[in-house]
Amino acid sequence: MLLAHRIRLDPSLDQRDYFTRAAGTARRVWNWALAEWQRQVALGQRPNAMALKKRFNRIKYTDPDWLDEHGQPWLRAIHRDAHAQPFANLARAWTRYVEQRRAGQPAHPPRFKKKGRCRDSFYLANDKFRMEGLAVVLPRIGRVLLREPLRWPGKIMGASVSRQADQWYLSVQVEVPEQLAMRSRTGDTVVGVDLGLRAAVTLSSGEKIAAPRPLKTALRRLRIRSRRQSRKLEAAKKASGVTGPIPKGFRLPVSKNRTKGALALARLHARIARVRADFTHKLTTRLCRENQAVAIEDLNVRGMLANHKLARAIADVGFHAIRRQLQYKSARYGTRIVLADRWYPSSKLCSGCGVRNGELTLGERVWTCAACGIRHDRDVNAAVNLQRLATGALAAHTALPEASQAVTPGTAAGTAPAVGGEVTPARHECGQHDGSGQEEYAAHVCARF
Ligand SMILES: [Zn+2]
Repeated sequence: MLLAHRIRLDPSLDQRDYFTRAAGTARRVWNWALAEWQRQVALGQRPNAMALKKRFNRIKYTDPDWLDEHGQPWLRAIHRDAHAQPFANLARAWTRYVEQRRAGQPAHPPRFKKKGRCRDSFYLANDKFRMEGLAVVLPRIGRVLLREPLRWPGKIMGASVSRQADQWYLSVQVEVPEQLAMRSRTGDTVVGVDLGLRAAVTLSSGEKIAAPRPLKTALRRLRIRSRRQSRKLEAAKKASGVTGPIPKGFRLPVSKNRTKGALALARLHARIARVRADFTHKLTTRLCRENQAVAIEDLNVRGMLANHKLARAIADVGFHAIRRQLQYKSARYGTRIVLADRWYPSSKLCSGCGVRNGELTLGERVWTCAACGIRHDRDVNAAVNLQRLATGALAAHTALPEASQAVTPGTAAGTAPAVGGEVTPARHECGQHDGSGQEEYAAHVCARF
C-alpha cells in the first residue's frame, strides 16, 4: 500500500534559498516544456515528453535563455531531479486531461505556472536522498532537519519538497507492506453519514458533529489583509505610472512591505487549510476505525459549488476531502464505504415505514410522516436511511437498485475483510490509538501521483 508522510522541514536560510531556486527551476522547466508542447501541437506534430526532455538536456547548458549574467549555466547549481521531473508530470497532466474529457468530465488542459500563484515544489528520486532519524540528507544541500521522524516502515519510492506560505514540507512516499499498513478497528457497527451545512455531519446514531468552518471565522481578518495587499499593489502601480491592468511582461517593483503583506495573507490561508484538514482527518479516521461499513451520499460537490450562495459554506466544511479520505482510509481499516446514488432520496424516505415524502422542502428541518406519524429530524432520518442502505449492501453483496456499492481498492467486493461482521485482526500496531485521530493528523495522504 502506497502511503505518504508529509513532514515539516526546518531548513536553514541557505537551504530555504536552495528550495526556492529548485522550485523555481521546476516551474520554469514546466513552462518551457508546455510551450514546446503547444508549439508542436500547433504544427500538427505529436509531442512526446521523453523527446522534449532529450532536447532540453541538449540545450540546458548552452542556450542563452538558461545562462546567467556571467554566461554560466545556472541549472548546474540545482539537482537534476528538479528539472527532469516536470517532463513526466506534463505527460501525465495531458493524459489525465484527455481521459477526463473522454469520460465527459469537466477538465482543463495543463496551464502555465506563475510565480507566486502556483504550488512551489520539486521532486526527489528515491536514490538521491536518505532519511536519518530527524533529518533528511538531500543532494547539493546536505542535512535538513525534520520536525518528526518518518512514520512508515517500507521501501521509499520518492519524495517531493513543497512550500505552504513560508513553511517547507517533505512528502515521502513509502510502499508499506500490506500487513504493516493495516489498522485494527475498535468497533464493528454500520453507520450512515449525512453531510449537511447546519450540522456538518449527522450520524445515524443521532450524533451531530459541527465542523469548525475556519474560513467563516477568518473571513474578516482575511478581508482586512487582502485589502491591505491590494492597496500596496495600487500604490506600486501608481509609483510606476501604470493605470489599468499591468501590461504583459511588465514587472512592478516589489517593496519589502508588499512582500511582508503577501506573507501575512498566505499564512492566514495556510492556517485556514490546516484547521479544516485537522477536522476532516480526525472525523474520517474515527468513522473508519469504529465501523465496519460507512454509508455516505455521493454528493455532487462540483455542482453544489456552482451555487454561489452555498459555495463558500460547502467548501469550508471540506466535503470533497471527507469523501476522498474515507475512501483511502477505509482500505487500511478494512472498512467498507457504501456510496448512495446521487439520486437516492435519503432525506425524503421515512426511516420508520419507508414511505416517500415528496413534498419535503430544503427548509424543513423537522417533519412528521403522514403514513406512520413519526416525527423526524431531517438529518438524522437521512443518516438512518443511509445506514439501512449500507446494512442491505453488506447483507446482499450485490448492488441495490438505488445504490451503487463503491468499493475501495483492496476491499473489492467479496474479498473485503470486514464483510460478515468480523473485525479485522490487529496484525501490527504502531502509532497512537486514542480517539483523537491524531495518528492520521493531516500528515499522511494516500499517494495518488
Ligand atoms: Zn413513516
